Amino acid sequence: MKNIVLIATLSVITLSVHAQTTVKKPLNKRAQATPHAPIPFGKEAFQKSEQTVIRWMGNGGFFINSQGTTLMVDPLLKGFDMPVLFKAPIEPKDVPRLDAVLITHSDNDHYSIPTLTDLAQLTGMYHATAYVDSLMKNQGFRSTGHGIGDVFDVGKIKVTLTPADHDWQNYAPNKTRHFKKADCAGFLIRTANGTIWAEGDSKLMPEHLTMVPPDAILFDFSDNEWHFTLEGALKIASAYPDTPLLLSHWGTVDAPDFTPFNADPEVLKKLVVNPGRVVVLAPGEAYVLKPLREKQ
Ligand SMILES: [Zn+2]
Repeated sequence: MKNIVLIATLSVITLSVHAQTTVKKPLNKRAQATPHAPIPFGKEAFQKSEQTVIRWMGNGGFFINSQGTTLMVDPLLKGFDMPVLFKAPIEPKDVPRLDAVLITHSDNDHYSIPTLTDLAQLTGMYHATAYVDSLMKNQGFRSTGHGIGDVFDVGKIKVTLTPADHDWQNYAPNKTRHFKKADCAGFLIRTANGTIWAEGDSKLMPEHLTMVPPDAILFDFSDNEWHFTLEGALKIASAYPDTPLLLSHWGTVDAPDFTPFNADPEVLKKLVVNPGRVVVLAPGEAYVLKPLREKQ
């Protein structure tokens, strides 16, 4: 969202200049919610077990180890072009192997070329939408592209692409390409221990409210028009009232006034149905997936 960032930055600068001339107030003092200190992890997290363990790695990035099958979704472990609030819980050089990396869309807070360049030699396959696959092939990455609704296997895990609506580039002033809805996706990840929905970045779509309840949602609650918005996120939470919500896309990028990055878990907890299932992970902290039917 570089253009949006630029516009927002220019707006902030304009506002700041205005503020300096009219109000003697410190600039940029709005508080931004941030997670607890990262819990670094290493190769021990890649070992086989009977469990499916999920770790948030910051922003939209997650590491999933399902009974020894390992994958990352949207890893952003290095080289971002905005200031970040913490060090990633694992560096690419410490990743021993990955069966797959799944990328939801081409924005660089999800499709991190510096990260994927470092992970390329130790990853079985990169998976993405057809458009992101074309970008990856241009980089020389080993990758496979899929359509919305397509299913593919990573070991014993089955992954289905879920729809997303995030074609903000079509409305940017320096538009260079017409983006299709299918250029962005989410991933429904079916493991032996339950299903995980990695939503991706999206406006709320009707399809997001009628799924079989997942056993965990990698949950974006950014109050931004190109994301679900807080209201839309609450609708998703209400549609799956028992599903644990592993918070995503918050507390990572230092941007207190920029809605894609400044969501606050405490605000969410006050409004959401069944707030006890909100899971605020520290970066790198392990969460063990449990099927809903066992919890009830
Ligand atoms: Zn994003």
